[in-house]
Amino acid sequence: MSGAIRILLLEDDPAIAQTVDFVLSREGYQVQVCGWMQEARTLAGRGGWDLAILDVGLPDGNGLDLCREIRQGPQPHLPLLMLSARSEESDKVLGLELGADDYLAKPFSTRELVARVRALLRRAQAPASTTAAATPDRHGFLVEAEGSRVSFHGELLSLTRRELGLLLRLLAAPQRIHTRDSLLDAVWGMEADSSDRTVDTHIKTLRAKLRQVRPDLDPIRTHRGLGYSLE
Ligand code: CA
Repeated sequence: MSGAIRILLLEDDPAIAQTVDFVLSREGYQVQVCGWMQEARTLAGRGGWDLAILDVGLPDGNGLDLCREIRQGPQPHLPLLMLSARSEESDKVLGLELGADDYLAKPFSTRELVARVRALLRRAQAPASTTAAATPDRHGFLVEAEGSRVSFHGELLSLTRRELGLLLRLLAAPQRIHTRDSLLDAVWGMEADSSDRTVDTHIKTLRAKLRQVRPDLDPIRTHRGLGYSLE
């Protein structure tokens, strides 16, 4: 089976797990099914996966926690698809904030599931043409894989989608002062539940992540009452 695409499936409902396993195996993927969070955590920690599908409601935990752990683990860029029976929008937003790449609400059609899986794998396998011969900018940032990740002083940053969006925005015009409104528009778009506070919160977590790499630097500059720029 070497060379097969390996998918980790965490789903405690046996009927759903069996169906998903069946349709994905039929597509030629190698599927590892588990029904417990603890088991999935161990398997994810071993690495070697091409994609993970995580249910949210589990008997021994919350799939969103595992999503966050994977983003800090050996495969921080593993494509992640969340499944949830809960229709609440908050689950979806939280999942995407924590770094999930996509989200599917139950019940879903197997056709839709396969389409999402294919799309995620395609995105992940797209050639990282910008990585070759790239050098960091004067702040120490290096945008890699066509803007899907950024390293800072040689260390790959583990960012949420929003943090990455904000950082790319600042990097695109480092001298400019970006107002909170312009950052909201660019990174959050039409989402209704975001405010100026949202930008500040994400800048704060972004700063903390940069500090973990270089405690002596604080490249993001706050312009009181205006917005942010890169120092
Ligand atoms: Ca469940």
